[in-house]
Amino acid sequence: MSPQEASGELLRMLRQQLESWQRAGLTHLPKLRLQSAGQSSSESQLEMSPGGGQDAVQPSDSGRSVFRKTEQRSSTFQEDRAAALARLAAQVARCRRCPELVRNRTQTVFGSGNPYAQLVFIGEAPGADEDRLGQPFVGAAGQLLTDMIEKGMGLRRSDVYIMNIVRCRPPGNRTPLPEEAQNCRPFLEKQLAIIQPKFICCLGACAAQNLLGTTEPISRLRGKVHSYQGIPVVCTYHPAYLLRTPSAKRQTWEDLQLLMAIMGLPVPKTSVPKPGKRIGE
Ligand code: SF4
Repeated sequence: MSPQEASGELLRMLRQQLESWQRAGLTHLPKLRLQSAGQSSSESQLEMSPGGGQDAVQPSDSGRSVFRKTEQRSSTFQEDRAAALARLAAQVARCRRCPELVRNRTQTVFGSGNPYAQLVFIGEAPGADEDRLGQPFVGAAGQLLTDMIEKGMGLRRSDVYIMNIVRCRPPGNRTPLPEEAQNCRPFLEKQLAIIQPKFICCLGACAAQNLLGTTEPISRLRGKVHSYQGIPVVCTYHPAYLLRTPSAKRQTWEDLQLLMAIMGLPVPKTSVPKPGKRIGE
C-alpha cells in the first residue's frame, strides 16, 4: 500500500470512528494533550455538530417538567455521559460474540438519541435500513415510531433514546436467537446504566420478554407497568407490527397514554387513530 493509500485508509477509519461516536451522542472531543496553559476548557473542545450537546437536551415544551431537569444539567456532565456511550459504542463495534450476525452485518447499530433521556425505547434488532445506515428505527417503522413520540406523545425524537435488544442485524430480519440476546445483554445493561432513564418503553415481544426475563406474550405484557431494576417499564406493540396490523394502533395509543400518565405528561386530546391512520392524525 502506498503512503497516499495508507493515509486515505487512516482517514476513512477515523471518519467511521467519529461518525460512530457522534451517533452515540458524543458532540465534543476533549483536546487534553493539545491544551496549552491558560486555555479555557471551552476552547479545549472540538465541536462535532453545529448544535452541540445543548440542542439535544432542550425540552420540546416548556411546560414539560419531566424534561426540565435535563435542561438544567451542566454541559460538562452531559459530555461525560455522551463520552461513556461513545466508549461503549466503540466496544460494540469491535464485538464478534455472535458469529452469524457478525458475518452478515454491515455495521453495528448501537443506539441514538439524548444521552440524558428520561425515556428510552427498546426495540428488537436492526433491519436492513438500520444495518445500512447504522441508526436504529429508520425506514417505515422508524417513521411510525417518530410519529408515536412526536405526534402521539408531544415530545421530540431527540428528547428520547432509542436502542435494540441486539446491535447487529439478524439475517433475513429473523428474531434474534436467545443466545444472541444474551450475548448482547451486557451492552444493553451498560447502555441503560449510563443513560439512567426514568422510564422505559419496550416495543414488541422480543424487547419486552428479553428485558423483563419472561415468556409472557406481548398481548399480556402490554397495558401494565412493569419494572426493570426499579425503572417503570411499559410494553407495547412494535411499530413494524402496527404497519402490518393497523387495528392494533388503538391498543398502542392506550399504552402510550399509560406511559404519559406515569411520566406526568399531559395526555393530548387526540382521538384514537382509526385503522389505517397514524397515531396523532
Ligand atoms: S448482537 Fe451484540 S453481542 Fe452479538 S455480535 Fe452484535 S454487538 Fe456483539
